Amino acid sequence: MKIAIEKQADGFVENGLGLAAINPRNGPQFSPNLYRFLKRKGQAWADACRVYRDADNILRIGLLDDGWFHGAWLMGVLCYGTLEQVWAHPPGNLGDLQEITDFWADYMRIGRCAIDTEHIRSFIGDETRWAVHGDERSCLWCGNAHQKLRTRVEEVR
Ligand SMILES: [Zn+2]
Repeated sequence: MKIAIEKQADGFVENGLGLAAINPRNGPQFSPNLYRFLKRKGQAWADACRVYRDADNILRIGLLDDGWFHGAWLMGVLCYGTLEQVWAHPPGNLGDLQEITDFWADYMRIGRCAIDTEHIRSFIGDETRWAVHGDERSCLWCGNAHQKLRTRVEEVR
């Protein structure tokens, strides 16, 4: 918390996230757990946090400060909300962290589909996500994904 506030005082560039915009009351595409987590961390942290992909292709939410990463596993936040712990990782501990620069802009637009652009994961509240017509379904969260159900028969000997 202290780190983020000091950085803002130094003219820290805000990350573009508007907390009010991702309130789950605005739509089921927004994670209630992520919202609660960010509210609990406080405005300064929320204004400074970014999403990074680590060397193992895992998404992390947090702040980079002098090489140290103060953050949490993004999917853990989605699953466990305020129970998910924020840890301080020494420089290099998570490999090269690549910031996903458009993350918050995308998340504010399409919610959790920004985390799962391929539409292969399942989330809490998935039952609000898909409109099913016969063997096809379309994503109501982003309005952008259509999938056709494929049936595969496997022979077991
Ligand atoms: Zn979608």
